[in-house]
Amino acid sequence: MAPLDANMSLGEFELIAKYFNRPTSRALLGPGDDCALLAAPSPGSHLAISSDMLIEGRHFISTVAPDRLGHKALAVNLSDLAACGAQPMAFTLAISLPRVDEGFLAGFSRGLFALADAHAIELVGGDTTAGPLSVCITVIGEVAPAQMLRRDGARAGDDLWVSGTPGDARLALEVLRGTVALPGDAFERVRRAMELPQPQVALGLALRGLASSAIDVSDGLIGDLGHLRECSRVGATVEVDAIACSDVLATQPLALRRRCALAGGDDYELLFTAPAQGRDAVAAAARGVGAQVSRIGRIDAEPGLRLIDAGGQSVIDTFSGFDHFRS
Ligand code: ADP
Ligand code: MG
Repeated sequence: MAPLDANMSLGEFELIAKYFNRPTSRALLGPGDDCALLAAPSPGSHLAISSDMLIEGRHFISTVAPDRLGHKALAVNLSDLAACGAQPMAFTLAISLPRVDEGFLAGFSRGLFALADAHAIELVGGDTTAGPLSVCITVIGEVAPAQMLRRDGARAGDDLWVSGTPGDARLALEVLRGTVALPGDAFERVRRAMELPQPQVALGLALRGLASSAIDVSDGLIGDLGHLRECSRVGATVEVDAIACSDVLATQPLALRRRCALAGGDDYELLFTAPAQGRDAVAAAARGVGAQVSRIGRIDAEPGLRLIDAGGQSVIDTFSGFDHFRS
């Protein structure tokens, strides 16, 4: 690719060697040759592969701490493996940098590898070029096809569940935009949700054989539920106030709370369905991996989405998911 600026203190290959080339143990060959060499997946498993890009100004702002950017770039990708019930194995990193800023690179690689180590996965290759700051990671995982959690498996009568407390990342964004004010410590907590999302990999693995479908919530719960409904050709009823809410979001007015939880985006929680007879097993599986899950509704044969409050009254749908080409 296009070389980085020749005047830069550190050349492209030194930069890669210093910040992105760590010895691999699972991969026979990591960064350094023309290709990485990975062992084939376990017998019966297939490779699960997903890519996600983060572009400065679109997915993150320039003031984000580099280690948090490194964390988030990998977290959003691991979240896709989680949503498939796949076991993460390795990843590649394509990064475009406006300049060689060693402070940035040190922080970025520290955050990236901390999360990689937490999930025991290896960086096996990538590409480094000069350009506007952007990061594209491709993750590689494995899962047996029959165990994969897909978007098209929801059936009428299934329970609808979501992990965690969606809405905090959006609340943080609103504070940054100046539309909401929060005390400093409360802001720090929702900011962590936005900048340091924790991908629900263990929950995804634990839900294999229990969940009938799953998707990760990246563009807002209602928007992502729309994808799940469309793929499964079903409708859904969501009891909006059954969605668990963080202490910070709970201090906000009801309308804002609902908007953040239902349409906030950037949550990286798992939205999934399971047959009602598996309710206790789902709760036990989540407990087993220390994940919080809430049962928030059900899948209907009737198409469309119905939002209700705890009394069963209809809540008007003025919520929509985050669409990069519309908002
Ligand atoms: P090529 O000339 O074949 O495109 P590159 O010069 O882009 O190779 O990269 C050299 C080696 O460094 C390759 O093995 C590549 O996978 C690795 N690499 C480049 N950038 C990164 C990165 N950001 N993280 C990890 N490995 C990288
Ligand atoms: Mg290359």
